[in-house]
Amino acid sequence: MANKFMEEALKEAKKSYELGEVPVGAVIVKDGEIIARGHNQKESSKDATAHAEIIAIREACRRLGSWRLEDCSLYVTLEPCPMCAGAIVEARIKRVYIGTESPKEGAAGSVINILNNKELGTSTEVYFGIMEEEAKELLKKFFENLRE
Ligand SMILES: [Zn+2]
Repeated sequence: MANKFMEEALKEAKKSYELGEVPVGAVIVKDGEIIARGHNQKESSKDATAHAEIIAIREACRRLGSWRLEDCSLYVTLEPCPMCAGAIVEARIKRVYIGTESPKEGAAGSVINILNNKELGTSTEVYFGIMEEEAKELLKKFFENLRE
């Protein structure tokens, strides 16, 4: 089940890749159905907040007519940054499935933990390593091309 949705998040990440963007994709699932998708579009939209997760969260809120995404799960190919983790917490998303860690800005524990934080009173269910190889490979390919 988790892999099926992560495959869709990877499809989103590939869209970013095609655009020359850092390949990160996300989908939001409610009752076993994808209700929103997003892929990183920071460069093409010239918008610092146009991360995959933010785009997907905005779409899910629009679609449900509510800012509360309590019964939703988010699948994302790369560990969320602090901004996206903040948005996940604000939207009350219950479960987050992550492809691979982000040692540089991961906010699900790699650098800082916003999703599970005593001071903030947050306790999101987080699962790492969902189709990790695929997510890692895509990022590696992107950064290798960048150096060429
Ligand atoms: Zn982000």
